[in-house]
Amino acid sequence: MAHKISSDYHEDEWNNWKWHISHTIRDLTTVEKLLGVKFSAEKRRSLEDTILKFPMSITPYYFSLIDRKNFENDPVFIQSVPSAAELNFSCYDKEDPLAEDVDSPAPGITHRYPDRVLFHVSNRCAMYCRHCTRKRKVGDIDKNLSRDELKKGLEYIKNTPRVRDVLLSGGDPLLLPDSILEWLLSELKAIPHVQVIRIGTRVPVVLPQRITPHLVKIIRKYHPVWINTHFNHPREITSTSSRALGMLADAGIPLGNQTVLLAKVNDCPRVMKALVHKLVENRVRPYYLYQCDPAQGLSHFRTSIGKGIEIIENLIGHTSGFAVPTYVIDAPNGGGKIPIMPNYLISQSSSKVILRNYEGIITAYYQPEDYHPPKCGQDCSACNLDLDLNGAAEGALVGIARLLSNYEDTDYLVPTECDRMDRRKSGYDQITTMGTSLIQHGKNSDRIYLMRLAAEEAATLITGMQTLATENGYTKLFAKVPDDIKPLFEADGFETEAVIPCFYGGSKAGYFMGKFIDKDRKIEENGELLEDVLKVAHSKAGKVPAVKLPNGYTLRKCTAEDTSAMAEVFSTVFASYPFPIFEPDYISRTMAESITYYGIWHGDRLAALSSAEQYPLEGHVELTDFATLPAYRRRKLAGILLRTMEDEMKQKGFGVSYTSAVAESYGMNISFARQGYKFAGRLKNNTQINGSIKSMNVWYKCLKKKTK
Ligand SMILES: *Cc1c(COP(=O)(O)O)cnc(C)c1O
Repeated sequence: MAHKISSDYHEDEWNNWKWHISHTIRDLTTVEKLLGVKFSAEKRRSLEDTILKFPMSITPYYFSLIDRKNFENDPVFIQSVPSAAELNFSCYDKEDPLAEDVDSPAPGITHRYPDRVLFHVSNRCAMYCRHCTRKRKVGDIDKNLSRDELKKGLEYIKNTPRVRDVLLSGGDPLLLPDSILEWLLSELKAIPHVQVIRIGTRVPVVLPQRITPHLVKIIRKYHPVWINTHFNHPREITSTSSRALGMLADAGIPLGNQTVLLAKVNDCPRVMKALVHKLVENRVRPYYLYQCDPAQGLSHFRTSIGKGIEIIENLIGHTSGFAVPTYVIDAPNGGGKIPIMPNYLISQSSSKVILRNYEGIITAYYQPEDYHPPKCGQDCSACNLDLDLNGAAEGALVGIARLLSNYEDTDYLVPTECDRMDRRKSGYDQITTMGTSLIQHGKNSDRIYLMRLAAEEAATLITGMQTLATENGYTKLFAKVPDDIKPLFEADGFETEAVIPCFYGGSKAGYFMGKFIDKDRKIEENGELLEDVLKVAHSKAGKVPAVKLPNGYTLRKCTAEDTSAMAEVFSTVFASYPFPIFEPDYISRTMAESITYYGIWHGDRLAALSSAEQYPLEGHVELTDFATLPAYRRRKLAGILLRTMEDEMKQKGFGVSYTSAVAESYGMNISFARQGYKFAGRLKNNTQINGSIKSMNVWYKCLKKKTK
């Protein structure tokens, strides 16, 4: 066969990978010659058309694996020789089904998951797989990326400390010259936060000669390096590829395999079982079985998802656990890999779960009756699981994991398009005047809140508020009033919920008073939890030493130019909010009025925010809107913001700073107690946050030393 490909073939060139690269089969005439057939004129034309759109390239080695007697049905042939079916696009097919180009923050980088990136370091492939998900790019520019281009990708990784795992992909990274590959690996190895390097390559399948002793020697210098290969059919595991895999495994490189489920290639449980068995014999762990992506040109390769589940059903339990890959669908539009399994959990009650095994035996598993999971307030130093956080991952709390945690307030995730939520946003509580006093009211928190009281209007206000409440069906009235006005409100049924002794001008007490029009609103369903939060918070009172801003971070007041970044941080942190702080315009308006926002930046990235809402006439300031991006939690940024705001407000002459924290959440209550704030009381079922009405704890700190 080698002589048919090259008239001046020399002995032994077959074992030289460069010979294969320079003799890849790229035209139909050679295909015909090697198979000993002649395609009909019509077939030839359709194949020419296909090659024009999606080029062909096959290594002589891989071509030699085709069974020439039955090539039409041969899995190697089907994966490597074009088919006219590639030009049948279905309306569901996309050019870039995984949105890799969109999720690309730097040349060659696809950053989709929190802690790892895909780095496309090569444009070249030895063989153009007909089922390539990056078919749109195949043959585009069959040259290597320049060092400058690669440097930009490296720069991104260097500047993104969250990235601890870099996956070299392409093209095929092992088609890079040894020197470039070594340079890349050494650059990556030198980045302190890169803990693991992975190489995704089909070289052991289509060009095993590339695995030379020299290449292996280079790779093993930069451990831990993991390699994932791409065998789709047991026939691809030849003595040559077996030897290549052995060399890699002997060099201590953990090997995995990613198979694509392909119609007429491996859509059969028996073929797949033979494949995984041969892989593990060669020390390759089956890693993923991919559902074929809906990319243009692949529709004839796609199977039903049921086929994949059937295959996994035939593997789990039937063979070694480590021989079973995870079956995944790479979600269209960049959702990432989603694992799919047969159902083993078939029913459950509060005490039992019902499971079935691979044989069809159905069993009950009794859940423990007295299991108390550790209560997580994200304070690992107080937890008996004894996690040493130094160096531990502290990534963002994302997705369902965020809903499951019990230290985040988020209790639902909202799609970006949601009519109902949009309606809710337009239902923010309004701020209006009544006489010269200021009130806020709305369905959102289902109450009227007297924000600023002109003392002489007290009596008329009380009746005015009651009328407004009746008209709108509000269930609570709420007011902040000084000592001398308090009896008037008490006479009308208001009761004190919180008291701040230095509320007015740093000396006169302020009373936070609530009147429950609907008596049921006063009932707190989670009273025990609320008491526990307080108990824990009190136990940590005033225990925190001053913390300095970590290196690389800056703190400053926000300006109108920051409002878009601010809105983004707020909307990342809060699922919903009583005010439209997800809108930059609203933020600039409040900035122009009475609110000063403070931000902490990490480089250019806004990491944390808070605000000081100032009431100069009354001499108090509310410190609120604390928001830290999940990736920046645990650096005590909120505490640093709090101290800074306090200092500035003290300078400005405010007598007291105060805040309200969702009473059922440990985090903020503990923070304020630690920072020396005193508990003023609890506003029962007061404020709508993340979809339900919550009780709020009021905390305060007097900023003026008592004179007298
Ligand atoms: C598959 C993939 C990864 C790696 O995912 P793992 O599940 O860790 O193997 C990383 N980034 C992108 C864009 C991917 O498609």
